[in-house]
Amino acid sequence: MGTMTNKLQSTFQRPYRSPFSLFDLARIGFFLFGFPKNTFGSVDVTSECNLRCQHCYFFEQERVPQWSLEQWREKFERLKCEGFRFYQCTWVGGEPLLRPELIQLGRQYFKFNTVTTNGSLPLPDWKNVSWCISVDGGPAYHDRFRNHPGLYQTIRDNIRQSEGQRITIAYCITRQNLGDIEASLAEWYQEPKVRSMVFSFYTPIRGLDDDLWLDWPEKDRMLDRLIELKQQYGDFLVNTTRALNLMKSTTARSVTDNCSFASTSFAFDPAGGAKKPCMLGSKADCERCGCIVPFFLRSLTDRRLVLKDLKERVFSSLRRIPARPPKGTEAQGTP
Ligand code: SF4
Ligand code: SF4
Repeated sequence: MGTMTNKLQSTFQRPYRSPFSLFDLARIGFFLFGFPKNTFGSVDVTSECNLRCQHCYFFEQERVPQWSLEQWREKFERLKCEGFRFYQCTWVGGEPLLRPELIQLGRQYFKFNTVTTNGSLPLPDWKNVSWCISVDGGPAYHDRFRNHPGLYQTIRDNIRQSEGQRITIAYCITRQNLGDIEASLAEWYQEPKVRSMVFSFYTPIRGLDDDLWLDWPEKDRMLDRLIELKQQYGDFLVNTTRALNLMKSTTARSVTDNCSFASTSFAFDPAGGAKKPCMLGSKADCERCGCIVPFFLRSLTDRRLVLKDLKERVFSSLRRIPARPPKGTEAQGTP
């Protein structure tokens, strides 16, 4: 597999991306001051979905009638008066693109917007929106898991027909799709319209079978493999090494027991109500949380970890500088 991956990588040069972004500035702010409350969060755009995937957490939640556009407009205006930050919002569902008019309204309030979609519908040309498309495995597994033959090809077509949207493939790792990960990375790396890929792990939901959950030793092995793949794929693989290490069995509870996603973010259900403890709803098993967000947040704000990594990076770059040869032993030039 490794050889195939290397071969695939060598056939396609991904466009240059600046190593320094606005987000890096924000990261310095998070490191120094922590995360301000309600800086980021999610809105469940609709209770409807055009798919019925196995183990969907959304339909395990209590269903609420969805708010009208006017009710949402009033809520956003009220929040504005209360000094709500309107920094970042992830628009989720159900399938959020079944109700584009709410995203159209809401994205005018937030500085950064991400839509998480199942990819079955064409992506609108909204310039200030980033896209996360859920793809959980290769074509055969994905279509079976999502109960929708042909869905994988539809996703590919929708991506290829998109016009400059920032697209990330979001892969949720389960016990059943472990074997597809490397082929999937290699495939999407070759797709010029895909900017990056991010991996999360399945979070068990009370009331649903546990058979998608990787046990801890399996999960630790997978995390080590992702760290190796990160060396190969660089920023295309969004997860950071520090956050991946934090997801391991030895440290995960130290993050999820004080989940900063739950304490700092907002999550609204389709009727504008606050979802607790986070967007995954009250039935999510926090002790076995596979969502990357709390680990990513901790990796940015834990000063001890950040400084330790910085020290290691400085030492490893110093090690790469060749030592000066002793006087008189310099290599002689060709006569
Ligand atoms: S696409 Fe998402 S919301 Fe719809 S059934 Fe699948 S997991 Fe659930
Ligand atoms: S499910 Fe995960 S992200 Fe949500 S509150 Fe629990 S630990 Fe935090």
